[in-house]
Amino acid sequence: AGTLYIVATPIGNLDDISQRAIKTLAEVDLIAAEDTRHTAKLLSHLGISKRTMALHDHNEKQKAQQILQWLEEGLNVALVSDAGTPLISDPGYALVSLCRASGAQVTPIPGACAAIAAVSCSGLPTDKFQFVGFLPAKSKARQEFYEQAHGTGITSIMYESTHRIMASLDDLKEALGAQQQVVLAKELTKSFETFFSGTVVELIAFLEEDPARQKGEIVLMLPGKVADKTDIDPEAIRLIELLKADMP
Ligand code: SAM
Repeated sequence: AGTLYIVATPIGNLDDISQRAIKTLAEVDLIAAEDTRHTAKLLSHLGISKRTMALHDHNEKQKAQQILQWLEEGLNVALVSDAGTPLISDPGYALVSLCRASGAQVTPIPGACAAIAAVSCSGLPTDKFQFVGFLPAKSKARQEFYEQAHGTGITSIMYESTHRIMASLDDLKEALGAQQQVVLAKELTKSFETFFSGTVVELIAFLEEDPARQKGEIVLMLPGKVADKTDIDPEAIRLIELLKADMP
């Protein structure tokens, strides 16, 4: 039987593709792509000419069946998305879950992922974090979401679309206060790559100062809430004080 390769592609800088990814794309029988025209540009840049088929959110279930059949017939297939790692806020879940359930071989060809690139340079704690994909589209849902994410106590990594970023930051301010720390990573690996870390109001001011700064691809990161002393059970504090008083 054949193998399904989940191949990461660049998130901006075309050099960010592994030797193994290039080799795999050159050797498979077929490439399933989120957008075949987009992938055609990457393939042409790599000097690879290969049969591609579209696999996106709207046809994924049906195409997955077809791809599984090809795998069972012994063909090797690569899955790519427009940028970064497939399935990470991108199509592929229906295909991979079907292949796993059917016992087909699925292998990662790892590479760029905006969330990981962003958090690794954010300066925020990376020992534990949650990636939550795209933020909710509605204001109220976003505010609730921010509060909940902050309350987990760990770093949250979020994707936000450029036309919603200002409204989204207003909600962040509303939910967690003007002084909440936040980190924005923009246009990673591209010419105008930017990291900004500061309070929500500072970030809003930075983006308003030059509206061009509001354009481009954005990863937003929020540190987790640090439990303050008042969160500790008062009874526990009282016991500790009693014990301390008894110590020599
Ligand atoms: N599969 C991709 C990955 O591995 O990161 C994510 C695809 S998702 C449809 C697109 C979103 O990812 C963008 O809206 C943005 O939030 C984020 N993103 C992708 N490329 C980026 C980049 N170069 N800089 C910052 N964010 C990026």
